[in-house]
Amino acid sequence: MTISDSVLARAAELRALLHRYGHEYYVLDAPTVPDAEYDRLFRELEAIELAHPELKAADSPTQRVGGQPLPQFEPVRHAVPMLSIRTETDVSAAGALAFDASVRKELALGDGDAPVDYVAELKFDGLAISLRYEAGVLVRAATRGDGMTGEDVTQNIRTIGQIPLRLHGDAPPLLEVRGEVYMRRDDFDAMNEKQEAAGAKTFVNPRNAAAGAVRQLDPAIAAMRPLSFFAYGVGEVDGWQPAAHSDLLDALQGFGLPVCAERVRTRGGAGLVAFHDRVAALRADLPFDIDGVVYKVDSLALQQELGFRSREPRWAVAHKFPAQEALTTVEAIDVQVGRTGAITPVARLVPVFVGGVTVTNATLHNEDEVRRKDVRVGDTVIVRRAGDVIPEVVGVVQAERPMVERPGADMFDTVREPKYAPFELPKACPVCGSHVVREEGEAIARCSGGLFCSAQRKEAIRHFAGRRMMDIDGLGERYIDNLVDLDYVHGVADLYRLTLADMLEMKRRADERDSVVPETVKAGQIASKWAENLIAGIAASKRPPLARLLFALGIRHVGESTAKTLADWFGDLALIRKAPAPLLRVLPDVGATVADSIADFFAEPKNQQALDALLGAGVAAADTHPPSAEWRDRLAVAELYAVLGVPKLTPLRARQLAEVAPTPAVLAAAGVASLGGLPADVLASLQAWLAVDGRRAMLNELDAQREVLLASLPAQAEAAGVLAGKTLVLTGTLQTLSRDQAQALIEAAGGKVSGSVSKKTDYVVAGDAAGSKLAKAASLGVAVLDEAGLRALLAG
Ligand code: NAD
Repeated sequence: MTISDSVLARAAELRALLHRYGHEYYVLDAPTVPDAEYDRLFRELEAIELAHPELKAADSPTQRVGGQPLPQFEPVRHAVPMLSIRTETDVSAAGALAFDASVRKELALGDGDAPVDYVAELKFDGLAISLRYEAGVLVRAATRGDGMTGEDVTQNIRTIGQIPLRLHGDAPPLLEVRGEVYMRRDDFDAMNEKQEAAGAKTFVNPRNAAAGAVRQLDPAIAAMRPLSFFAYGVGEVDGWQPAAHSDLLDALQGFGLPVCAERVRTRGGAGLVAFHDRVAALRADLPFDIDGVVYKVDSLALQQELGFRSREPRWAVAHKFPAQEALTTVEAIDVQVGRTGAITPVARLVPVFVGGVTVTNATLHNEDEVRRKDVRVGDTVIVRRAGDVIPEVVGVVQAERPMVERPGADMFDTVREPKYAPFELPKACPVCGSHVVREEGEAIARCSGGLFCSAQRKEAIRHFAGRRMMDIDGLGERYIDNLVDLDYVHGVADLYRLTLADMLEMKRRADERDSVVPETVKAGQIASKWAENLIAGIAASKRPPLARLLFALGIRHVGESTAKTLADWFGDLALIRKAPAPLLRVLPDVGATVADSIADFFAEPKNQQALDALLGAGVAAADTHPPSAEWRDRLAVAELYAVLGVPKLTPLRARQLAEVAPTPAVLAAAGVASLGGLPADVLASLQAWLAVDGRRAMLNELDAQREVLLASLPAQAEAAGVLAGKTLVLTGTLQTLSRDQAQALIEAAGGKVSGSVSKKTDYVVAGDAAGSKLAKAASLGVAVLDEAGLRALLAG
């Protein structure tokens, strides 16, 4: 029979591809395609060679084991070759039965004969190693190499703590242990994090990381890689003859070698199927990667009888699971906006079957990840889906990137370049158009339109209505979902416009949608009490304290305590919503991140609109008041300059700058040349800072808001109450005043009430049954007053 040219060409092509992928995988430890892709091509070539045996050349990838040993290592000749294992291609349970059937056929067993005993183990995804122990001492460790000759990697293997340098107990005089060096997933993740932090290259998967570490030329580097080991068999042995593979594994364990506990001795095909099913369910929870299970005939006598086929034993088979990695193409890179505004790039893929499901999208995590992996539209990518984990793009097959040619510098020149540009995160939220913010040191970018963005709507309302925020009684998750899903509420302001009719209609539509018929409706009535209560609850929330209103807005990094600081100091939402970052930055406990986040929130016009709508709906802080007198100390221009975030502008330089630019407006208008008296490097830094768009406008705004604050500060005399700067502690029961009344009087006089006595306490006010605080006051020598004493103090 003649072989058609197309089959010949395909066979040659497959051989070339498999040689290349094999080299990348076995020799370079840097595969460029998923295993499933390699296996698919391998099977295709096997099928061609089966149909046309004359094509089966000795150098065909189907006839060889592993890859050439690297010349940098001493070669090690294996007395007992390190072979492959045949892979059962049927990933279903039938694969296990097929193996049992082939074993029975080879052994000429009939239906009436007893089932064969097997050992079923995990197929670890690592690197095969042979450990040679002489008189119980580890003398050499070698890789598999091409099966006949491996590489001497003893120095590196010695760094693996799990591998005993001396065997325990009564070890045979000569024992070659065969096993797998692998890396646990958590170790792998931690190592990659470290590599990334150090700006070093990261690894694609634990197998390659482990293989790379074992074949490291520098044992010191290998020692830093967290490797583990499982023993699963033997090579050359002298002075020991176990009867079965299961005994052999137990004995290896007894010698102090790690043997995976996830193994069974079982009977017949049914036992193998049960193991396969159990491990498939367990797989995602294992702390290390496996790519299948291995079945081995237990009796070593039967193993011998079955013998070998060119590169693999007949008594063992690898039964794989559905692949967790596959190749596909990126059609587009979109971004998704999460409920808290987090922006995640997502690859839209040509559908691909991987990890048991069809995958059409895969997460790219964040901007840095996309850049690091350099994923582009049109790219062929490796997609991974393990267990229930969200599918992710692991890497790009660079060789497959679509390229275009364009004319180069001269007319004979052409330049080849990628057809698509590197990914860039959009500057505006794809859902609402608000600007996108990425905080310094954060991997995740976020939409700044928290109050406006529909992607964040439910979360924003849920937070807004919360007990420690607007405290809207009865507005639970389910109502929020329905109000938003059925389009009654687009933003928090809409809550205040809801009518009884809206609520009842919303409920009716939700019931209809969910095919629910409430008891009341069956009885021909409509329950409305809940809706009346809810509307009353919403109405009752209209006058919150300013701090709670601020907290309710859901500004990133603004929790209860920051909201309270803002409310105490500014006293008025109108001032806060206009405050540039430096004004916020000078407040106690407000750092740069928090100040920027608040300013960013209010810089987004859509948030301002949403806030206007809220105020328009009748919501207002109940406790608006003039700004705190304490501002006076913080509005010094030098203080504000020092928190602008200009590199090199230290507090000292900020004071010098304030002398030449006495207000932010002057600084905004200044040419740097006019700012004499500052060192050149500070001036250069200032100049660069001023050159950024929006900075001069911000300074003008800072100037204006500073003036507004100064003008609205209460007169100095009023501000300083008789207790200004004093800290008092209340303890015991006072004669006529309640705790709250006493506290209010003290605060009205400018004093502070603290919960515990310290050296900084000025007075302890003690009533009846005062306890440990009184004793503490005595021990620290703090003045103690009774109620009369307090009143005298207040009277000045
Ligand atoms: P194999 O499938 O022939 O199996 C033999 C190996 O299995 C042994 O050397 C040993 O290291 C390992 N093993 C793990 N657990 C075991 C256990 N309990 N008992 C016995 N052995 C166990 O392995 P192979 O010949 O090294 O390579 C084939 C694998 O490598 C395939 O999965 C293939 O997809 C992958 N590969 C991938 C690429 C690529 O480019 N992605 C290239 C080449 C090979």
